[in-house]
Amino acid sequence: MKIAVFNTKSYDKQFITEANEKYHHELAFFEVHLNYETCQLAFGFEGICCFVNDELNKEVLTLLSQKGLRLVVLRCAGFNNVDIQTAAALGITVARVPAYSPHGVAEHAVTMMLALNRKIYRSYNRIREGNFSLDGLLGFEMYGKTAGIIGTGKIGALTAKILSGFGIKILAYDVTANPELESTGATYAGLNELYAQSDIISLHLPLTHDTHHIINDKSVSQMKNGVMLINTSRGGLINTQSVIDGLKSGKIAYLGLDVYEEEGDLFFEDLSGHVIQDDVFSRLLTFPNVMITGHQAFFTNTALKNISETTLKNISDFENNTIEPANLVKIELVKNDK
Ligand code: NAD
Repeated sequence: MKIAVFNTKSYDKQFITEANEKYHHELAFFEVHLNYETCQLAFGFEGICCFVNDELNKEVLTLLSQKGLRLVVLRCAGFNNVDIQTAAALGITVARVPAYSPHGVAEHAVTMMLALNRKIYRSYNRIREGNFSLDGLLGFEMYGKTAGIIGTGKIGALTAKILSGFGIKILAYDVTANPELESTGATYAGLNELYAQSDIISLHLPLTHDTHHIINDKSVSQMKNGVMLINTSRGGLINTQSVIDGLKSGKIAYLGLDVYEEEGDLFFEDLSGHVIQDDVFSRLLTFPNVMITGHQAFFTNTALKNISETTLKNISDFENNTIEPANLVKIELVKNDK
């Protein structure tokens, strides 16, 4: 099938091209994001392949539909950038990759915990400048601490399992308990208890109306003094001003973020020659105990391989009318997603 692939970085092109050796789709790669101005590049294509920051709004979908679009394949799990109602009304199928790297994201969450605890990001720079002082690098032993895992689906459960290996006690919270996790010794608790007892709190929830700003002034006030907070899920889970206040008061002693509420204007691009206009993000960067990565938790060769494979299979399955139901984005899903 003839597919216009938008928002492609060199690594996307490499992995998609390799996976396509099996599928033989006719792919045209474009580096630009998809939006109303760039969508003319996809005129005449039956399918487009997009990523998290591409704008699949009503205007773009309507225009592309008039030019022959029948399929959107997303090379990600989230679909908040797609007007699903319009796609459905126009008869455009939207497919995604619902799961591709739970291990990679869990490993990244634990990497952030270890690096923040032992201040690796600071010692790395010090040593390069010939500063071998240990002042300010004091860490704590993970062994014997309590970690609160909020959301115990695929990634949260894996994070809990890795932490159990350090001898960390796991307190878990989810709307649905994961029996496999309980069998490894984790204990489910209410959020109040989890906040009060956890030395480390790691978020592994989807962003929904219920989970939006689950970390706010009140929840921060309930946490232990000196808590470590990690978010590798979605930026909107955290009210950023609440954690800035928590950092200033010392309530939060370590903050690790792979996601940020307004990341769409920043992440995935080289903005090193630009002035960052987001003052809240800039404030976060000033804290010595905050470590931010730019939505890279998923970014492993395994994940890129899985994403490419599933994306190309979604295209072939669309042609054969055999798309896996779990990969289809339907209006019912939108009610729960944000
Ligand atoms: P999952 O669906 O397997 O697990 C999510 C869990 O959250 C489920 O157990 C669900 O019951 C629970 N949950 C949902 N709403 C809840 C609520 N209101 N209160 C309590 N629990 C609730 O998802 P996953 O694969 O583990 O992914 C977790 C999140 O990680 C995703 O939603 C995504 O936002 C994020 N993610 C980030 C990256 C990255 O690169 N940073 C990559 C992949 C996924």
